[in-house]
Amino acid sequence: LFQPVRRNARGFDLGDIADLDCIEGARRPYHARRFEARPLLADGAAAEGAEGHDHPNPADPADIVGTVYDASPGDVERAIEAARPWPASPRERGNILERAAELYERDFGEILAIVAREAGKNLLDAVGELREAIDFLYYYARQSRQLEPEPRGRFACISPWNFPLAIFTGQIAGALAAGNAVLAKPAEQSPLTAAKGVALLHEAGVPVSALQFLPGDGARVGAALTADSRIDGVAFTGGTETAQAIHRSMHGNLDPGAPLIAETGGLNAMIIDSTALHEQAVRDVIASAFQSAGQRCSALRCLYVQEDVRDDFMRMLLGAMDELRLGNPWHLSTDVGPVIDAEAATAINDHVAAARRQGRLIKQVEAPESGHFVGPAVIEVDCIDDLEREVFGPVLHVAGYQAEDLDAVIDAINARGYGLTFGVHTRIEDRVQHIVDRVHAGNLYVNRNQIGAIVASQPFGGEGLSGTGPKAGGPDYVPRFARGTPQPAIG
Ligand code: GLU
Repeated sequence: LFQPVRRNARGFDLGDIADLDCIEGARRPYHARRFEARPLLADGAAAEGAEGHDHPNPADPADIVGTVYDASPGDVERAIEAARPWPASPRERGNILERAAELYERDFGEILAIVAREAGKNLLDAVGELREAIDFLYYYARQSRQLEPEPRGRFACISPWNFPLAIFTGQIAGALAAGNAVLAKPAEQSPLTAAKGVALLHEAGVPVSALQFLPGDGARVGAALTADSRIDGVAFTGGTETAQAIHRSMHGNLDPGAPLIAETGGLNAMIIDSTALHEQAVRDVIASAFQSAGQRCSALRCLYVQEDVRDDFMRMLLGAMDELRLGNPWHLSTDVGPVIDAEAATAINDHVAAARRQGRLIKQVEAPESGHFVGPAVIEVDCIDDLEREVFGPVLHVAGYQAEDLDAVIDAINARGYGLTFGVHTRIEDRVQHIVDRVHAGNLYVNRNQIGAIVASQPFGGEGLSGTGPKAGGPDYVPRFARGTPQPAIG
């Protein structure tokens, strides 16, 4: 049985001054560079005369990160026509995806800079983003060699802005590992980061006919792709409602076996019981709810604290929030960067304002005035049913519960129909097992934060309204892009 050596990204130690100096030196040349994203088609250059538009930095309206040229309906048509499954052998595909991982490592300074300026990622998040993208490439490269999967045909990969390199690369690498032709549609908020990834994949040796790039908005480019009967499958990460709309558009246009690999939102909860270690739980709640400005589908949205310890715990949590620094994600001291754009900031601010009017806003940290910043906020609720929907930002809802109501709390969380991440802090072992057995969630974390799943170690994905599986960074991902269910090759 072919057993490749496990490989991961080199990574950085942000506590080590030598690593920080190395990062600073490598990203400095890109501090004011203007990047570009334009459609890349197998049959030649995109239509001439398309108008480019400026792409701003969400933390600093004066910083124009680059110019974006959107794909036209004609470009989408040409790309679908010109798409060809990747003819290379599974072994060669694996080698090329690994070569791409090495190129991502080589260009780390440029990547960390674009991700900070386009997506508002602070250094911790930017480093995690790069590492995850590289890990996906290595992991799916190994699967290509091991499983020798057969392609389905043409895959549309529609990715989100919150992981503009990692999820963008992961979807594409999964589809390419199985030998498919990919039509990659990045989120309209993050095409510049995506363009860099595509350039490196091409440089590594992926042919353009197997990987075409179609920046543009979902209503035009994304919808044109998913409704086209020549598309054999769709990988989508984003909102639950969009996933449902894609599913409807595929239905009737595609053969019923065509897969929709969707990863969507969550109403993720954490339970803190009276035995939890406060110091650790506070740190993990802050990371789960506010890191990445809460813009992770894994982020903690609703915290349940056992009444016996609630006042003490909340005092510590609110105190810790005073230490959070908001600001430009380029600066090393920034804990919380901006949210992605004005529309996102307005939606989150409206939610917080409604809670304030109802007298249920417990705290909100002050935010810088220029740029799309939202101060991390804590809102009191009675239970998870007070949350109408996922609010994709740094907003934590907190409820109390009585020890004897624990099962009812879990049932109420399950009843919402999502099932992505779940956190628990307790020092009672039997209780951990009890909760694990009762909770419906794809990723359950005990006595730690509930974000930042690691490729290959913690396959990531949910159930119910949170997605259609398979888990990203796990053994079932590449097979879903392939015909049949490939088995590990012998010999
Ligand atoms: N995989 C990420 C995590 O574990 C979340 C992915 C997402 O937000 O779509 O935090």
